[in-house]
Order: sequence, then structure tokens, then C-alpha cells
Amino acid sequence: MLQVTINGQPVQCQPGQTILSGLRTVRVDVPTLCDDPRLAPVGACRLCVVEVDGQSRPVAACTTPLEPGMVIRTHTPELEECRRTLLRLLSQNYPVQAVERDPLSPFHRLVRTYGLEHELHGKSQAALVDDSHACIHVDMSQCISCFRCVRICHEVAGQDVWRAWNRGDRTEILPANQTNLRDSTCVSCGACVDTCPTGALADKSVLALGPVEHEIRTVCPYCGTGCEMHVGTRAGRLISSRPVMDAAVNKGHLCVKGRYGLEFVHAPDRITTPMIRQDGEWRSVSWGEAISFVAERLGQIVAEHGPDSVGILGSARATNEENYLAQKFARIVIGTNNVDCCARVCHAPTAAGMKMMLGTGAATNSFDDIELAKAILICGANPTENHPIVGARIKQAALRGTKLIVIDPRRIELAECAQIHLQLRPGTNIALLNAVACTIVEERLFDPAVVPEHIGDWAHFQTFVADFTPERVAEQCGVKAELIRAAARVYAENNPAMSIHGLGVTEHVQGTEGVMCLVNLALLTGNVGIPGAGVNPLRGQNNVQGSAHMGCDPGILTGSVPIAERAARFESAWGASLPMRPGLNLLKMIDAANKGEFKALWAMGYDLALTNPVAGATIRTLQGLELVIVQDMFLTETARLAGTVFLPVASSFEKDGTFMNSERRIQRVRKVIEPPRECRTDWRIICDVAEEVGRGTGFSFASAEEIWEEIRTVWPAGAGITYRRLEAAGIQWPCPTEDHPGTGILHKDIYAADEPPSLRRIRYSPTSETTGADYPFLLTTGRALYQFNAGTMTSRSQTQQLRPVDLLLICPADAQTLGIAEHQLVRISSHYGEATIRASISTQMRPGELFATFHSPDTFLNRVISSHRDRFVQTPEYKVTAVRVEPT
Ligand code: SF4
Repeated sequence: MLQVTINGQPVQCQPGQTILSGLRTVRVDVPTLCDDPRLAPVGACRLCVVEVDGQSRPVAACTTPLEPGMVIRTHTPELEECRRTLLRLLSQNYPVQAVERDPLSPFHRLVRTYGLEHELHGKSQAALVDDSHACIHVDMSQCISCFRCVRICHEVAGQDVWRAWNRGDRTEILPANQTNLRDSTCVSCGACVDTCPTGALADKSVLALGPVEHEIRTVCPYCGTGCEMHVGTRAGRLISSRPVMDAAVNKGHLCVKGRYGLEFVHAPDRITTPMIRQDGEWRSVSWGEAISFVAERLGQIVAEHGPDSVGILGSARATNEENYLAQKFARIVIGTNNVDCCARVCHAPTAAGMKMMLGTGAATNSFDDIELAKAILICGANPTENHPIVGARIKQAALRGTKLIVIDPRRIELAECAQIHLQLRPGTNIALLNAVACTIVEERLFDPAVVPEHIGDWAHFQTFVADFTPERVAEQCGVKAELIRAAARVYAENNPAMSIHGLGVTEHVQGTEGVMCLVNLALLTGNVGIPGAGVNPLRGQNNVQGSAHMGCDPGILTGSVPIAERAARFESAWGASLPMRPGLNLLKMIDAANKGEFKALWAMGYDLALTNPVAGATIRTLQGLELVIVQDMFLTETARLAGTVFLPVASSFEKDGTFMNSERRIQRVRKVIEPPRECRTDWRIICDVAEEVGRGTGFSFASAEEIWEEIRTVWPAGAGITYRRLEAAGIQWPCPTEDHPGTGILHKDIYAADEPPSLRRIRYSPTSETTGADYPFLLTTGRALYQFNAGTMTSRSQTQQLRPVDLLLICPADAQTLGIAEHQLVRISSHYGEATIRASISTQMRPGELFATFHSPDTFLNRVISSHRDRFVQTPEYKVTAVRVEPT
């Protein structure tokens, strides 16, 4: 500790602290304007100046390190007069109305505290207003040149949109394009708005609806990053969201979806009463009638066709507690293991591949390892668009010197800051990753401390990968052999190295094996069980990891344990016997329905009509079922085209519970507002149906916390996680006891285990989706920054204005050959169906390859996608379809 004196009081501070952070530790408040804890201190505004004995002039507290014995004074008359003078200079031409309109902004508070509000005579100047952006209002009449927007855009977002032009009192802050914010490279994360101390940059929603009255901390409803946010409300309406500064994952940053994607909650087409379809028309009914209808129809179908004619789909947008109850209901009330969730169509291959090789089907490390890695291999993931907070952290790491290798058919944004981009042909992951392994083996780049003693199948593996020399696979993969070798060297020689992967690995016929290839690379190079390393999937939806982990998977129970192994524990906890017949996953439910063996589906928060491949066939199958229960916020395509009964639910802002993010972190979801009209939580609806069918005993919960308490009893790795502990921060499992801190890094002792981890020899079986005269292009699909999956939430929020339509990316040469102009409507067709979409000519693409987003029902892109599936877990091959494209 370090002893200093502050305003005459002896104070203990930590070595390494600045004077400002020391003052804050002991709650001595000095004013600041250019300071933001997310940014490197610059000492520009000089408001935080303090007197220090021995110094001839006041020093900036934010940039001056504390030293032992310092004697500091913070509020002498001279210092206060100096601050008043500085503020007077800053407010010379400042608009008086701005202070009246928002008296609580940090700068306005200071102006009032120092009695300067009556000296303001400026006005907002129309020439300095930029209203072009859908969510952000810019009025640079209120700019005081603190440069926080410029710095946060560089140091946190990594976008460099804002720039300071000119010098001195001619300084202007403008977007780099010097036109307007809409046409700049802004990614709409709102970080500049969040840091702006004056309101020069402001959220339009707050300007329109008035200042925030209440704020509640909760978790973002979108991707699996799991950012924490303070959601602001006014008169029962969500009007703002800002990042939690000390959040473990996002550390004071949000992306556009977390920031400006919340309006869907108040969308006018939200369904707020239960409905039953009668003679083709939806009829609003009471909850009593809806629950009786569901209970009666399920009972009839089970009686007539058996329990395995029914299936339940949990939801990635529902909480862990709700998914736990969904699978419990399927297993002990219906009596079937036919339960699944949308992990089936995204990361089921990750869970399976990692479990087979490492014993746990989840990320080995944490997002905090990004800053510790010396090299990061990004394979089949586009973090800056799909997990933007992770993307921003990777970008910042790259700027600090971390080496990036990007493996992706598209030249994605991170490829621009990567050392190596392996722009492989879609569908050739296995050949390429085996070639990287081959190089590591051949050039003896593996970790000699672990290979061969602490790793299994070494002898066979060496021989096996020798067939995959980069020179041999180069043409097949469309990547130069020397680049593959260079990538292998960067990954193997920069220890620790982590891999981060996405659906570009998993959504292939060899998706599970693609994940295994990544585990091979990590095992070979000693990159398992250490900081800054590991194999790390970016899970697509906020709670998709939790949904499957809670047991919404036909083969596993809560905690990802096989039914056959742990049935007794659950039977005893639940007081009921479990079905031991193998269950059907989502894809197999559809197959069984086509054979007439499957009759009823309960889909919670899952628009499978829009998101399943071969969408036309899926819809026809759903329409042939006797009962389709849709539990959602909106009349989704599944409900519209095939629903029998609709149960309206609360959004994640209208209930309590927990989510589990990509790095195994359980975080509290908190109720911010009441659900509208008759909407109920998913867990309440499940309990109501259980009660109605006379099985209420195992479903008599009064709160989400009560359900969580039951989960802790059946899931040893989560037993130490309580709601009380989660009040402080999220906790990563395994966390077996209440005094356990949680586990950031798995498999720490893997190389010392009695049974060493084994490498896997993965044969390459090319996809049957190949190009030819009829279908000369290979199509891959994915998400865009401003939209999310089926667009259910983003299309009803401000985000919709930022990217309203799906786009097909096509390279300039192909566009020219086909006579396709920018934003022209084109028809895209495959063996399976066709869709219409607008084209965007992009240098990200190579000739013969296309990329399209799939968010809108107007596009219905999944009509085009093939029926091929991963051979282990049946995840569809969304990432490779042979197609034809032509102008309409
Ligand atoms: Fe939400 Fe994901 Fe964006 Fe974070 S990165 S704000 S979790 S969408």
C-alpha cells in the first residue's frame, strides 16, 4: 500500500494508481470532462487539476501517478477559480437551451455547480446539426472538444469514425468522411453517445421520449456474447440502453443491437392474448381456454399415437429456468425424449465434437483470454458483425500486435487486420485444417512438452495427416500452399494461441469433424488448459448454450449428461420415471412427421418455418401436423403458416431468470418492465399446462429463483451458483460449491491426465453440393450486423432502418458477367427452391461464390438451402449450396 495525504487526511492507496483513481477510491470528487474509465487518460480538459506539495503548478489528477508521501489538495479557492475559468471558456458559445433541456448531463451539471448557467448565450446552429443517422442525433453546437467520441471510437470500437479537424478554436469534430454520420463507417454502437458529456451526441429515443426515469441491469437479448446493459425506462417504456461499465464481458461497450435493438418489445404487432386457430382464422381466447385446449389436445395425441408422437422445442431466447422446465415437461409429463432447441441448427456440432475429444462441449476459455493470446485463429466466424463486442476486442488486440489468422471464404472485416487470410472454397474446412495440422507435424512445430507423451494416437495421426500436405490440398481449397504453411507457423509459434470459431465451421456436412480438427490443432500445440488459448465457439444466440445445457437435447439431461448415465439421479429428484427410448432431434421430428409418426410440436421462441433449410418442405410438413403450439411474442412464420394455438410470452425484459453465454457464464436476467396485457413468462405457461394435465406437483414454482434452486440440485457443476451470488456478477461453471469462484479455463490438467487426450484422424468427405452448368455458384449464408436471425426482434426496432433488406454479395466480375447492378433484385435458385433478393456488389467475394443474409420472411432464403446434414448431429449444411443467380 502507498500512504498519501488528501485534503489533510492520511489515505492508503494502491501502487500504480493515478491521483484521480486514488481520489475516487476515497470518494473525493473532483470534476472531469475528458476522463472516461474506458479510455487512456489524456489530461486535456484540466478540470481535475489538484495541488501537490513540491509542485510549482497544479497537476492533472488523471495523468499523474500517486507517489508515496504525496500531499494533495483538491478544492482550494484557487483551484475552484481555475475550474470556473476553464468552464467559462468552454461555455462561451454554448447553447443555453441545451442546459435547460437536459440539466443532468455531466457538463451541464458542472456549469450549474459553478454558477455559470446565466452566462450562457449561445444557440444551437443548424449548420452543426446532423440528423442523418436513424438512432443518433448530432448537434456539434454542444461540442466542447473533449475528444471523448474520437477516442472511444478508436480505443474501444476500433472504427475511427470521428475525427478532429483543424486546431485550436477552429477544431471541429466530424465523421472521417466529412459528410454525415449515416454515410460514414459508423457501426452504430453508440459508444460516442455514451461517453459524450454534453449531449452533442444523443440517442434520438431519449430526445423524443424524455429522460430516463429508472434503470435496471440485465443481459442483452441478442447474441451469445452476453453483454450486460442498464436498460432505461420512462412511463413503463424501454427508451434507452447503456453498457454496464464493470461488466465481465463487454466492459462498458455494447453493439448496435444491444444499444438500439430493443423497441420490438413495444411493437404494435406484438401478440398479447392467447389465440386458437379455428376454421383457418385466429380467435383470441382466455388463458383458461388456451391452456385447456393445449392440455386436452396433447393428451388426445399421446393417447392415440403415443408420447413419441409429440416433440418440444426449447428456446435460445428463453431463460435457463424455462428451458429446464421445457425438457422436464417433455420427459416426465409427455414421457418422451423428443426435445431439442435451435442449437441443432448452429453449434450442436461444437458441443458434440468438443465433448468427444475434451469431455466438455463448451468453450475451453473466456473472452478475457483474447487479450492474453499472442495469436488468434478465427475460423468460420465474423465477429465484428455477429458478435461485435468480441470483434472489437479482437480488433483492439490486433492493433496491439496480436497476430490474427482468418479462415473464411469472404474477406471479412477482421481479414483486413489479419496477418494471414486463408480465403478457402466453401466446404473445404477439413482439408484445410488437416493441412495446417500436417504442417505442424511435418515442420515439427508441435509442443514437444506434450507431444507425444501426453497425447494419444500420435503415431497414427502423423501418418494420417501426411496425406494432407498444403501442396496437395491447395487447389481443392483454393488457397496457396505457402499461405497454409505460414498460417500453421503463426498459430504454432505464437503460444498461447486461441481459436475462435463460428457457424462457418459447424454448418457443414462435416461440422462436428471440423470442430474436432480445431481441437487437434490446439492439442498439438499445447494450447489447451492455459490462459490465452483453447477452442472457443461463438454461440449465436444469447442463451443457446444454456438451452441445450439445461437438457433441451434428445440425448442429454441438465448439465449435458447422457440420459443412460444419470437417469437415476433425475428420477429421484423429479419423483418420476424417465423415458429411456432415444428421442428425436428437430430434424428427425420433421422426418418422422413426413412418415406419419410424429403429430404434435410445441415450439417455444423458435421460428423453424423461416429458419429450417428446405423451408418449403418444412412448412408443408408442419401444416400436416395435428397440433402446432407456438409460444412467442409475434405471429412468426411458423405461427402464420402452420400454427394451431398461439401462446403470447413475456420478453426477456419482462421477467427474471438467467442466461448462459458463450464462455459458460451464468448471468442474471432482470425484469425491467411488466409484460404487456396478458403475456406470460414461458415458465409460467409450462407450469400452467402441467397443472392442467394433473402433473402440477413437479411444476409448482412461484419464481424463477425457485426453479434455479431445483436446477442446482440436479446439476453439480452449477451447484455453487446462487441468485445471491449473481447479484454481484456472472459466474462461469463449473462452480460446484458456494465458495468456488467459477472456472474461466477448462482442462487445466488435461496433458497430465491418466488417460491422455487423443488426436482424431478426420477423413475429408467433400460435400455433394458441387457447382455445374445449372448451378454454377456456391452460396454461403450468415447474419448482418444490424439484423439478427429471423429478424423477429431487429426488424421491429430502430436497427431495421439501418439495414432494412437482405443482401446477396456478389463479386464485381460475376456481377458484370451476369449484368447485375448494385441493389438490383435477383433470383437465386437451387435444387431445393428459389428466393428473390437484392444484390450488392462486393470485393469481399471471390468469383463463383456468393454470400447472402437470411433475416427477412420477404426473402425466405432458406427455401434455397440444401437438405444435407452433419452426420453426427444432423445440423444442416447452411454454408454450402450450389445455386444459379439471375437478374429478375
Ligand atoms: Fe448484445 Fe451481442 Fe451486441 Fe453484446 S455483442 S450488445 S450481446 S448483440
